[in-house]
Amino acid sequence: MKADLEILTSLAKRRGFAYPSAEIYGGFQSTWDYGPLGVEMKRQIRELWWRAVVQARDDVVGIEAAVITNPAVWRASGHVDHFTDPLVDCLECRARVRADHIEDGACPSCGAVGRFTEERSFNLLFRTYVGPVEEDSSVAYLRPETAQGMFVNFENVLTSSRRRLPFGIAQIGRSYRNEITPGQFIFRTREFEQMEMEYFCDPSESLDWHRYWKEERLRWYREALGVSPELLRLRDHGADELSHYSEATADIEFRFPWGWGELEGVAHRGDYDLRAHAGASGRQLSYFDPERQEHLVPHVVEPAVGVDRILIALLFAAYDEETDDRGERRVVLRLTPDVAPVEVAVLPLSRNERLVPTARAVWERLRPHFRTQYDDAQSIGRRYRRQDEIGTPQCVTVDFDTLDDDAVTIRDRDTMQQVRVPVAGLVQALGERIEASRPPAGPAVETPARGS
Ligand code: ATP
Repeated sequence: MKADLEILTSLAKRRGFAYPSAEIYGGFQSTWDYGPLGVEMKRQIRELWWRAVVQARDDVVGIEAAVITNPAVWRASGHVDHFTDPLVDCLECRARVRADHIEDGACPSCGAVGRFTEERSFNLLFRTYVGPVEEDSSVAYLRPETAQGMFVNFENVLTSSRRRLPFGIAQIGRSYRNEITPGQFIFRTREFEQMEMEYFCDPSESLDWHRYWKEERLRWYREALGVSPELLRLRDHGADELSHYSEATADIEFRFPWGWGELEGVAHRGDYDLRAHAGASGRQLSYFDPERQEHLVPHVVEPAVGVDRILIALLFAAYDEETDDRGERRVVLRLTPDVAPVEVAVLPLSRNERLVPTARAVWERLRPHFRTQYDDAQSIGRRYRRQDEIGTPQCVTVDFDTLDDDAVTIRDRDTMQQVRVPVAGLVQALGERIEASRPPAGPAVETPARGS
């Protein structure tokens, strides 16, 4: 891995992926605002996830639940009482630290060994008040995960979309956790975006589905996002790490510069959540099996991941530096085209008054088909470097020959090779090149036999 956190954070800010939030006021507590390139990339990540987990399948549907909902949800789910992290203070530097993040007894902030206060529990829920009066009865919470939205809507989705088991409900949206130690750029923040799916299945098939979703999700990182397999691993939780209701949980981990870290959790939640909400709401949250003529409470397998965390992982995975024959250094983000914020940049050789309108006409032709950018500032060499640095796979250059032959040059980010293509066939040529640079699709993960 060629970038460390500092290099990446600085590139992100310089080029417009993400900035310290409210920077003109000195920023705010490890909070980040996304810039023009960051939002494009996030949109792509969401699109690819939604496509793979919802639209391309026949067994998953989507919802969007409220961020602030009935606080009874968070009492029943256990978050009000148990969504806590163990907190200690360093007696030397006063840093607040998560006790489970301390390695070898040393303070991550000042390095002092074994100088901590007693451990105490800290609840991560953000509280707010609904309505004009700030009293106990108006307390509500910002959701700490999107998952509960799927459980409380289980019955509604089941009846309104006439589903049979197994089926999933998916959601993408913001979640909020008052993390004790946010940090490492957008790796851990207090406001973040999750993509979660609850897959409801017959209890007897749930371990098979858990195995399936681990592999299927891992495949997505390789094939949809183009992450190299050496940077990914599946780690099954040991018995001591499992929540009391979980039969199995695995993390898909990514090799960050500071070590392996969780990208996505694939949890087996059993029937814990549906039973908890059935008990608290008095509703029968079960499924009627028409063949067996009986009610059952489905088990749930949950792949859950953060959009922001994928984005930082993709930037680390893509970052590359190289020096050419002439000793010139370039930074390249080797992003797969589907996640690159810009797919095609249109660059007139100069700001010459004859070139600019022609280049703009080429740009207009490409805009309906690709995520594009037009750039005519500075030398062409510098503009190529800038596009390399933001991961643009293809640049189209308009030069004086274009005025005569109606052809342009396509320059490839990775090979830096250039080919001449008629403007009339440009959309197709670019489409083919993008298609050819996508990661190859491997065999599909075998689905467990349904109703076995
Ligand atoms: P941790 O123990 O690291 O605090 P977790 O294991 O409780 O987190 P989950 O509840 O499993 O995290 O959340 C699912 C996914 O949501 C994570 O894999 C991660 O991608 C993302 N996520 C969770 N918390 C944050 C956060 N504070 N900032 C950014 N992404 C997050």
